[in-house]
Amino acid sequence: MSRWKCGVEGCGGRFEDVESVIIHQTTDHERHECKVCGTIVPEGYFAIRHAFDEHTRAEFVRAYEADSTAVRIREDVKATVEEEANLNNVVQTLRKQGAL
Ligand SMILES: [Zn+2]
Ligand SMILES: [Zn+2]
Repeated sequence: MSRWKCGVEGCGGRFEDVESVIIHQTTDHERHECKVCGTIVPEGYFAIRHAFDEHTRAEFVRAYEADSTAVRIREDVKATVEEEANLNNVVQTLRKQGAL
């Protein structure tokens, strides 16, 4: 069984490596509009990264009506991706495809 699950709501996509997940989320899913600032960002990891790098936890909770569990899950996803993924490669691949 593939190790990595896409995790975007309604998507059952599974992948062998985390880089493939991020590329899938960025190219196969609709863009996400940040509920805090309205910026359009790729769905999935990049949306999480945007929310937590650009905004405070309190802003996120308010805008998304999220609870602390939802915040923790996203923080875990972000930490795991950043530990496992070669994000430079992912970004380069996506730029080449014109997806970023
Ligand atoms: Zn997906
Ligand atoms: Zn934002």
